[in-house]
Amino acid sequence: MTQEIDLIVKSEFTRDYRDGYPLISKESILNWDDVKEEGSVINLVDEKGKFILKAYHGVQNKGYGWALSTNIDEKIDTLFFTKKIKSALEYRKDYYSDESTTAFRVFNGEGDGIGGLTIDYFDGFYLLTWYSLGIYKFKSSILEALKNSVEYKGIYQKKRFDSKGKYLGDENDFICGDEAQAPILVKENGINFAIYLDDGAMVGLFLDQRDVRKTIRDKYAKGKSILNTFSYTGAFSVAAALGGSTKTTSVDLAKRSLKKTSQQFEVNNIDSNCQDIIVEDVFNYFKYALKKKLLFDLVVLDPPSFARSKKRTFSASKDYVNLLKEAIQITKKGGIIVASTNSANFNMMTFSDFIAKAFKELNGKYEIKERFSLPKDFRVLKKFQEGNYLKVVFIKRVK
Ligand code: SAH
Repeated sequence: MTQEIDLIVKSEFTRDYRDGYPLISKESILNWDDVKEEGSVINLVDEKGKFILKAYHGVQNKGYGWALSTNIDEKIDTLFFTKKIKSALEYRKDYYSDESTTAFRVFNGEGDGIGGLTIDYFDGFYLLTWYSLGIYKFKSSILEALKNSVEYKGIYQKKRFDSKGKYLGDENDFICGDEAQAPILVKENGINFAIYLDDGAMVGLFLDQRDVRKTIRDKYAKGKSILNTFSYTGAFSVAAALGGSTKTTSVDLAKRSLKKTSQQFEVNNIDSNCQDIIVEDVFNYFKYALKKKLLFDLVVLDPPSFARSKKRTFSASKDYVNLLKEAIQITKKGGIIVASTNSANFNMMTFSDFIAKAFKELNGKYEIKERFSLPKDFRVLKKFQEGNYLKVVFIKRVK
């Protein structure tokens, strides 16, 4: 390892770092220019030179690095990463012993002590996601630490650190062990999902919605018609169908969604021909549904935080109110809207304001039935609630 670099924290920021705030910002540092390379280990000190914490430099949209240790003598090496991974595994013990769920998050970035890195488990396979070049530079030690800590069938990776945090498919996602079938089948609360570990940025399932899928299946689906917008591989639709919905309609712009969604139904022994899977812009579909006077018992809204298509850009922070208004109009009175967002730009309070505004503008009435944020395996630091990006609200349309 190269030499560690001392960085002087401006006085107004020392308290946050001492209190456990893990994300290092450039503006909090007096001599940032001393850091030359991502992956450098840096020691934050106050203006008197007193040690605050050890971190590494890695550029993500969120910041310039992540805290690693408050021990000045800590070596950032395989042993250090092994300790972090072992304690993360201990925290997920119950998941490993639950036979009905074989896909979950094993390591959740700063929540488990290393920002910029996540590790997911898919039935014996491990998937590492690197969110900066800085953390990627520790790849060999982290990989060794993981191999020291778990039994695995195979290990995969996703690199997501071009300037916009996008997926870099510049090399094989497969790292070592056995190659996974395409797809492998995992279970989540008894639901089967087909997972592709080496097929682009996404694997087919967003693990953070596990509790929401279960809730839809167990409490809201029976005898109901479901519209699932921004449906991707149709995971919410599958959960609803297994919960006894009369029919599901899945809408997504991406062509791949048709094949992928049919497959998710089929691996659960549901005839996908009895479900509607529509490849279309959701906003066009809303127009169509309104014209045809279609009404659904339950509408799921789970848009990306930001998307640009040929015709429009959608930004959750700007456009969610309008999205809700579209959804309200095609939800039966007494029906449910499951409004979800993974946008880190606003919190649950603001999201609740969006909901209030949408209903008010339509002169409607609603009741909040339940709320979800990240599940337990997506561990979040108390001192870094921004890390709890997921917000899901079950809203009953009263009027
Ligand atoms: N709800 C999904 C995840 C959604 S990911 C799940 O539970 O797994 C976001 C999806 O929105 C992507 O599949 C993308 O293709 C789709 N998408 C983005 N903009 C869209 C639009 N205007 N209309 C329809 N789908 C859109």
